[in-house]
Amino acid sequence: MNTGKAQNAKEVILLDSKAQQTELEWISSPPGGWEEISGLDENYTPIRTYQVCQVMEPNQNNWLRTSWIEKGDAQRIFVELKFTLRDCNSLPGVVGTCKETFNLYYQETDSEVGRNIRENQYVKIDTIAADESFTQGDLGERKMKLNTEVRIIGPLSRRGFYLAFQDVGACIALVSVKVYYKKCWSIIENLATFPDTVTGSEFSSLVEVEGMCVSDAEEEADNAPKMHCSAEGEWLVPIGKCICKAGFHQKGDACEPCGRGFYKSSSQDLQCSRCPAHSYNDREGLWRCDCEDGYYRAHSDPPSVACTRPPSAPQNLVYNINQTTVSLEWSPPADMGGRNDVTYRIMCRRCSWEPEECVPCGGNVGYSPQQAELVDTYVNVVDLLAHANYTFEVEAVNGVSDLSRTQRLFAAVSVATSQAAPSQVSEVIRERVQQRSVQLSWQEPEQPNGVITEYEIKYYEKVSVFERERESERERASTVNNLKPSTAYVFQIRAFTTAGYGTYGPRLEITTKEEASASTIVSSEQNPVIIIAVVAVAGTIILVFMVFGFIIGRRYALAVKFPGTKTYIDPETYEDPNRAVHQFAKELDASCIKIERVIGAGEFGEVCSGRMKLPGKRDTSVAIKTLKVGYSEKQRRDFLCEASIMGQFDHPNVVHLEGVVTRGKDCILLHARVGDYKWHPVPLFVSPLFSGKPVMIVIEYMENGSLDAFLRKHDGQFTVIQLVGMLRGIAAGMRYLSDMGYVHRDLAARNILVNSNLVCKVSDFGLSRVIDDDPEAVYTTTGGKIPVRWTAMEAIQYRKFTSASDVWSYGIVMWEVMSYGERPYWDMSNQDVIKAIEEGYRLPAPMDCPPGLHQLMLDCWQKDRADRPKFDQIVGILDKMIRNPNTLKTPLGTCTRPISPLLDQSTPDFTTFRSVGEWLEAIKMERYQDNFTAEGYSSLESVARMSIEDVMSLGITLVGHQKKIMSNIQTMRAQMLNLHGTGIQV
Ligand code: AMP
Repeated sequence: MNTGKAQNAKEVILLDSKAQQTELEWISSPPGGWEEISGLDENYTPIRTYQVCQVMEPNQNNWLRTSWIEKGDAQRIFVELKFTLRDCNSLPGVVGTCKETFNLYYQETDSEVGRNIRENQYVKIDTIAADESFTQGDLGERKMKLNTEVRIIGPLSRRGFYLAFQDVGACIALVSVKVYYKKCWSIIENLATFPDTVTGSEFSSLVEVEGMCVSDAEEEADNAPKMHCSAEGEWLVPIGKCICKAGFHQKGDACEPCGRGFYKSSSQDLQCSRCPAHSYNDREGLWRCDCEDGYYRAHSDPPSVACTRPPSAPQNLVYNINQTTVSLEWSPPADMGGRNDVTYRIMCRRCSWEPEECVPCGGNVGYSPQQAELVDTYVNVVDLLAHANYTFEVEAVNGVSDLSRTQRLFAAVSVATSQAAPSQVSEVIRERVQQRSVQLSWQEPEQPNGVITEYEIKYYEKVSVFERERESERERASTVNNLKPSTAYVFQIRAFTTAGYGTYGPRLEITTKEEASASTIVSSEQNPVIIIAVVAVAGTIILVFMVFGFIIGRRYALAVKFPGTKTYIDPETYEDPNRAVHQFAKELDASCIKIERVIGAGEFGEVCSGRMKLPGKRDTSVAIKTLKVGYSEKQRRDFLCEASIMGQFDHPNVVHLEGVVTRGKDCILLHARVGDYKWHPVPLFVSPLFSGKPVMIVIEYMENGSLDAFLRKHDGQFTVIQLVGMLRGIAAGMRYLSDMGYVHRDLAARNILVNSNLVCKVSDFGLSRVIDDDPEAVYTTTGGKIPVRWTAMEAIQYRKFTSASDVWSYGIVMWEVMSYGERPYWDMSNQDVIKAIEEGYRLPAPMDCPPGLHQLMLDCWQKDRADRPKFDQIVGILDKMIRNPNTLKTPLGTCTRPISPLLDQSTPDFTTFRSVGEWLEAIKMERYQDNFTAEGYSSLESVARMSIEDVMSLGITLVGHQKKIMSNIQTMRAQMLNLHGTGIQV
């Protein structure tokens, strides 16, 4: 399976002090501080180092500035420092003055500036301390060790920059300084070339790159090749592709021409094919082969079929004469020319007796079934002249006959006709039309072929297919009587001689005149057409009832309970939705509920937190979903539907419904301060949150809110076991729901709630509205809104929602959890996500994700839904992992992020800091002390309320620092929450 990782990152080095053999000549100030010293590295290669060790003197401030570093096209720069630091304890008599850190700065400029170091022009990157800098020697003394630290700076806006090192009294040897940035290296994927691409400026951004087809390849229709360069310099998510043009086929990463004797007719074909029969080519790279001499390809023939030729002549032609009709019959040709589209055409010629001279028969002769394109091997030629000589040629033709210039091949016979019947009566005139009669006259046929003794008139009512009447007449005029008034009739006439009847002439349509009285209306019972129509309509009605009966039967079948299993009942099957609510949800008295504050926004109104005190029970924290002012009856029904569903569930990992308020008295609910009672009798009009009859859904309170936001807030703060524990809970909740026959359709981290014990519970139930209130849901071509990134392929493509599609969504939730709330498929568009998934792309393992968990995700994203694990199996697999934590180890060599478990008691207790200054010092951000003071953040409580925007507005520009400060604020906030149990609203 394609997991999207294409190639390793390439580092582009801007500065590497180790690679330089001559003197570095960086600027050091004041004299006596940093000194350039030559040394040898661990491989005894000469290197240049800088050292400083003024540990005896107080108030040291020694600066060292690198040469100017041009940043090129880089946006995020990595600085790797290798250094040793002496342990102050190992230096006798330095107590008080010796330091064990130094500071790293940078200054951006567009060109080299003077040799003076102006401290205030530098921006601090970090204070660098020696991590495990000293190891215990055999004799108990501490030995120096080489430290490696990497820092990231960016985004940079000038052409280049300097790095500077500030020593404040430590004993340091700077062994090497390496400055580099990362690139996704040029690559060919799916026959498209992707150029070297510099990674984006933000850690989470992907750079979308369009590929260029390699030579002799073209873009697949509507599927242009794209890839994404990640911040780590890895190519991710290949979408679309190029394909070799006609005449070329793929070999490795290139397109090669088809060889001689081979062709490829379209870019869609994968391989070159051998030339079909009777064709050849003697050049390379052709899209089709030429036909051999005497062979042809019809216009509609694809290049893949053999070349063919015209058929030989038909065989065994025989004839039969009946008066002026000749019947011809023959057998198919011996050689069909290699085709199966052979038809026949007839050539008729009338010849004089002496000397034999022939002319084409012309349009008076008829052919049955037709003259050309005959599929069967016979034809009747009619309306020939009596006592005449004819020759008939029968030719076989196929799809290439018209392309061939060779001689026509046909079979021929000569025939003399006998006495014949008269030809058609072609001209009929309506003389007089009355209510009940029509008078007609006509001309004699052009070829009477004898003496006409009689004419026959055939007529019938136009609407009726059954009734026909005939009248005979010797004269060439007649009146037809006993007709119905206002009725359309069709008339046809033929002549009769001793040789028999001629053929009928053309149809003549005449409508009789209207009658004055109403009695002319034709009764519907007498009209067979109408009767048929009635029967057909009755049949349809019966059919419609049968189909409806089936659907209705199925709907109620949903609600049937099977003995032994509890089954989910669709509230929509209740005629009265109120009955469903009260069957599954307890009605609560509004006076038992105290609203405290608004915590979120739902589709139907605000979501609040508060307390519930039922008689004889302890009061508990609850979440209260309210229905907004001025709701319609439909909104009320849809809103309560969630309660009807939730009320049927009882599982520790499914959010628990306490009850509903549907019969409250008129009241006004005010935006209020914590702790107030909120219910006032009408009238009271002060910025009401709600007024009217209150409708509420009361749910157990989940202190940590929705899972996605919670994870983002605590990025990197949990152990893998804690994360797997959360996933196990969600899987157990889903196992329960699927056992009950409930399909969630919108399983996503944002629809999981987390309580104070980190227990995760499935929430957000509803029917159609489940999707309506999800901001992630978008309209798809199959109709209806779907949260594309979370939804299985078959549900997107043809709305097949099942527990197996819930398993797919669960896999996405696993990915969200393991990446701490990262957005699935990052900033790709929904269209690209659908395309990528269809092409087999699956999300790669998040950072630090154990391979076993990623494998489980991939199993959940199996294309065939039968291949996906069931929730029952998922719970089993996760339980096994939790019991054997070794299986959750990340393999060596992967980059691991530091884990500072949220609930781990060893985290520094922020509430013990007495001032903002102390706290900033502890997190090594003391340089921003003034920024905090200037903006009035003087207490830890005020700092705990800060948002990321607040932190940015302090003038802290380094993204790394903003993140560090913010994550410490969040940890402080969590600790305060645990301590006071009160909400700090941000
Ligand atoms: P919902 O309409 O269910 O999507 O809820 C909107 C928001 O209210 C959610 O994203 C949560 O942040 C919050 N919320 C809903 N239910 C609860 C609950 N039981 N406990 C705590 N917060 C909740």
